[in-house]
Amino acid sequence: MSQLIDSFGREITYLRLSVTDRCDLRCNYCMAEKMTFLPRKDLLSLEELEQLSSAFIDRGVRKIRITGGEPLVRRDIMTLIKGLGRYKEAGALDEVTVTTNGTQLHKYAKDLKAYGVERINVSLDTFDADKFAKLTRRDALDQVLRGLDAAQEAGLSVKINAVALKGINDTEIADMVRRVHGRGMEMTLIEVMPLGVIDGDRVDQYVPLTEIRERLERDFTLIDSAKRTGGPARYVKVKETGGTLGFISPLTNNFCAGCNRVRVTCTGQIYMCLGHSDKLDLRAALRSERPDENLAQALDLAMRRKPEKHFFDIKDRGAPPAVARHMSVTGG
Ligand code: SAM
Ligand code: SF4
Repeated sequence: MSQLIDSFGREITYLRLSVTDRCDLRCNYCMAEKMTFLPRKDLLSLEELEQLSSAFIDRGVRKIRITGGEPLVRRDIMTLIKGLGRYKEAGALDEVTVTTNGTQLHKYAKDLKAYGVERINVSLDTFDADKFAKLTRRDALDQVLRGLDAAQEAGLSVKINAVALKGINDTEIADMVRRVHGRGMEMTLIEVMPLGVIDGDRVDQYVPLTEIRERLERDFTLIDSAKRTGGPARYVKVKETGGTLGFISPLTNNFCAGCNRVRVTCTGQIYMCLGHSDKLDLRAALRSERPDENLAQALDLAMRRKPEKHFFDIKDRGAPPAVARHMSVTGG
């Protein structure tokens, strides 16, 4: 079947698949403390998630990232990872990967590796236990650190993703870079995005990465790198540590022109852009009498409706989020 290609000529080769909207942490820039989660009956089954993945693979998707909520809290999630691993083994996929908060990695690292996952992203915004507890509203830093050890012992390449947060970790980032690179892991910094209603104001959280980069340049020599992964990150080599540091700057630097991805939620809604509310229901197509035909049609329509770019902004105190949906719905 034909390659997914949108109306701006961008080939869609990357699917980010959210397998749950639930999470065992409550990062204060991602969720409110009291969240209403989806009823379990609305979720796609693991078999349906694999069937859906297969439809995307048929249309030229080469990389699938499992995300959430926290993907590793979904019951029996390894069944899906194992299933997708078979596509990779057969050469139908280049990569299966996972974005996780790391709390369950001590249990699953070995299996992830055994089922063909080679690299994972672990979201960790601070190495300070008190800050971690305040930020995530859960006291779980030690558990995450054990998870990182397990992941590296299992032979997984680990990239740490840290959201830059004003007054929380912005003064710690140079130390984090040293520590992460010192352990042989990569690191990427992310600008906080105005997604979903949270308990605080985004203006109080947001710090532009242009500012963080300037501050890092007081401690380090940052050498621009040609490395590209088809995503929004731009990379530098940190001379002093020898490690790689990525910058994802959706607010200060928009890289939508090279977008190669779509996102599907755990109920089978496809979002063509992180920064827009437009979505299409793939679950209805999947559960219809002619799923193959209807899915193919829905994906064609999704390609026509994929917007050119997002318009994020964090300037006005009290402003509503750019998009009402929380990041935990689409998994970033
Ligand atoms: N629970 C997993 C984790 O934390 O890695 C996967 C889902 S989480 C929603 C995916 C990524 O989105 C994490 O790196 C998290 O830090 C980031 N994130 C969540 N809310 C965000 C926001 N409003 N702006 C920028 N990044 C956000
Ligand atoms: Fe959970 Fe990830 Fe959101 Fe934190 S960022 S609350 S770990 S989904």
